[in-house]
Amino acid sequence: MNTSNPGESIQIKISKYNDVWLDNGLATFYQLLKQIEGDGLTDLTVNEEGLKYEITDEEEFIEEFADVIKDNIWRMVVPTEDKKTGAKKDVKKDHILVQEGKKIGGKVAFKETIFDEIKTEQVVHEIFENLNGEKYRCFFCNRPFKKNVKKIQQASYPFVTKIQSLSGIRTGEAIKLTEYISEYCPQCYLNGILEWLDESIVYRNLPGNKSILILPNTEKLSDLIELKQSYVNILNNLARWSNIKIDLDRPDVENTPGKYSTFVSFYENFLRYVEPDFDNQNWFVIEIPQGSVKNPKYFNIFVEDDIANVLNVTV
Ligand SMILES: [Zn+2]
Repeated sequence: MNTSNPGESIQIKISKYNDVWLDNGLATFYQLLKQIEGDGLTDLTVNEEGLKYEITDEEEFIEEFADVIKDNIWRMVVPTEDKKTGAKKDVKKDHILVQEGKKIGGKVAFKETIFDEIKTEQVVHEIFENLNGEKYRCFFCNRPFKKNVKKIQQASYPFVTKIQSLSGIRTGEAIKLTEYISEYCPQCYLNGILEWLDESIVYRNLPGNKSILILPNTEKLSDLIELKQSYVNILNNLARWSNIKIDLDRPDVENTPGKYSTFVSFYENFLRYVEPDFDNQNWFVIEIPQGSVKNPKYFNIFVEDDIANVLNVTV
């Protein structure tokens, strides 16, 4: 962001990635931006290819956007009680790959500073401060940028790995991604990290074993946003182990045993309650092992004309 011209508005365009994590992150970013339209932000537009927005008042925008992030951090935790003392405390949902520090007063403290409420605004400021420039070019979006605010890590892109021989999840092409890549622009970091605030991630956490996530993708970004919004209301995001409801009128959730049963269980509800009318949905079922090495595996299910085909299984 060019601070030498404080009165100038800044236009930012982001193209759809064709990457399941970052496209869903882009959709989530859009939902968050929508909440502050008019507050230092204008011309927020989404179409098939991507989204654009214009910052008219940098200071106001940063303050408002930081507030929206803070207002949504609760989505990553569930309220619970200490078994011994009965004291109320929050726990991080098991599938969230953002590292946690020592709890403060029963509250989850995230190590990722954008989710540390005291620092959120400062980080957002740093992101936009370092976005516009020419020094580097982003590996994901090809944007020229001034400086990265974070290296690529699992917290903002789960498919990155410390092992160089494993590849990422980019649709249509195999890419090698390691945590050592620094050509990672602040906007892509933002889209990736904010995906954890997405209210339409379907999750099933199997204690001590693994987490299963389901995310959709479509060819057009506008369709993806619409598709994701269509099923938010059939999920129970206050539950810890799964957000797939057994039926819509009760908070109880399905305790499915594995990845296929989890997908089927969600998709049955999706067909039953949403009556979907979306062409060419591509659902990604992602398994994240619990424990110290968390290299996720995934397979995707392509749905065309109401027929689901398992396309690709990686093990
Ligand atoms: Zn980028």
